[in-house]
Amino acid sequence: MSMGATSMDVLVSLSKRRGFVFQSSEIYGGTGSCWDYGPLGVELKNNIKRVWWRDFVQQRADMVGIDASILMHPTVWKASGHLDHFTDPMVDCRECKRRFRADHVDALPWTHYCAATKGNKFTIPAGEACGHCGLRRTLCPECGKGELTAPRQFNLMFKTFMGPVEEDAAVTYLRPETAQAMFVNFDNVLQSMRLKLPFGIAQAGRSFRNEITPGNFIFRTREFEQMEIEFFVNPNDRVDGRPADEYWHDRWIEDCMAWFLRYGLAADNLRLREHEKDELAHYAKRTVDIEYKFPIGWSELMGIANRTDFDLKQHSKWSGKSLTYFDDERKEHVVPFVVEPAAGVDRALLAFMADAYREEEVRGEKRVVLKLHPELAPIKVAVLPLLKKRDDIVRTAHAIRADLAKQWRVVYDDTAAIGRLYRRQDEVGTPYCVTVDVQTVGDSERGETGDQRVTIRERNSMEQARVPIAELALVIRELLDGAPWPQVAGRYPSPRS
Ligand code: ATP
Repeated sequence: MSMGATSMDVLVSLSKRRGFVFQSSEIYGGTGSCWDYGPLGVELKNNIKRVWWRDFVQQRADMVGIDASILMHPTVWKASGHLDHFTDPMVDCRECKRRFRADHVDALPWTHYCAATKGNKFTIPAGEACGHCGLRRTLCPECGKGELTAPRQFNLMFKTFMGPVEEDAAVTYLRPETAQAMFVNFDNVLQSMRLKLPFGIAQAGRSFRNEITPGNFIFRTREFEQMEIEFFVNPNDRVDGRPADEYWHDRWIEDCMAWFLRYGLAADNLRLREHEKDELAHYAKRTVDIEYKFPIGWSELMGIANRTDFDLKQHSKWSGKSLTYFDDERKEHVVPFVVEPAAGVDRALLAFMADAYREEEVRGEKRVVLKLHPELAPIKVAVLPLLKKRDDIVRTAHAIRADLAKQWRVVYDDTAAIGRLYRRQDEVGTPYCVTVDVQTVGDSERGETGDQRVTIRERNSMEQARVPIAELALVIRELLDGAPWPQVAGRYPSPRS
């Protein structure tokens, strides 16, 4: 057995060939950095979101969820800092690559290599001409050599208009993160659910950023999905002798790391990266990224930030509404601190695919297999008839598919010979194949009734067991709930070869 190195090209081509991810609007030449999830991609993506929601919302007593609208009141982005921090027109120097605010360039002193003085270097005050040659600045003010690009808007927010009139008062934005909805709904959620600190609000949904340099397949796109949690804590509380916000920050880092390991990412491909003090966002007390060794190298998979009370205070200031929590014990109003675990769905999907991809050699042939965690696998079971000319086999296989499909995504396929069908399912990560054969249904002309058993084949080991049709759904349930294959298969005979 050999492990193939997973390159981005391999994943892009598998994704297209097998219906995981297509380039958006491909027949028109594609849309920059936009991708469409195909029939298998949408299942994988939904599974990622589903297990995240189950593990972090459904199963926890201290979590609730929301689903907010993408268009929010424009003042949200004023309060959050997004409007002010990202709206400047920028120009880049083609030579030294320094970046300037276009509206500041003329107000800067500038460096000049003057041809009239054999190229001597001068620094000339803002707005003035060279005293020797009389030229005014046309090049980069810093290096004096490079041309500047035309001004470009570097605000990452997509701007649009609400309503029929395209005027300034109607300007609004597609949200660049899902987080703000949790802050502006803080009081609604607190009051309606009668919550006590600490508690968290989760949301999974689309975000939009007009990224200047998108790329690397679905790693960085302009439209993507996030799974974010805002976990509110009382900053006056102490847990294990530490400030509550610091304790919970560490807890969330551990829990998120454990989550990615649980669903199959290899420990060697994951690491934590602490943000340096000078790279911390203005609101953050501490930020730690979980990085994954993507085909493009170590890069951020998710970030876990301690955002302090910045957001609630900002929204309270701009809205005029109080966003506090009444601390019963201390009899005082307090602005909670918030710990934010923020993950990207598309990036998680890319990591899960990259980590699961294997090229193995089986009996002299190459087999491509996606060793996806069964809970994430887009198709849980493929039902395959051994002989598609036999009506009774085909009928039984369809009936089994229909029965299992009440619980899971299950497919029927009879478009190739069995070996080929297995390979196809391996390549998309289907953990179990069920084969219906002559033994299952017997030969009625000879008066045989068949054993009413089917063969289950497990993807990773390729081992098989004969399971009664009547027990099939329970066996699949047991396996998907995490029972090890040898333990379950050990109860049943192997197929006769
Ligand atoms: P980066 O530094 O890679 O731009 P970020 O630090 O700006 O990311 P956050 O604002 O912390 O990202 O967003 C949380 C998560 O959302 C990221 O860890 C990532 O998984 C995802 N994400 C952010 N921007 C994009 C994007 N353009 N395309 C896909 N996923 C994204």
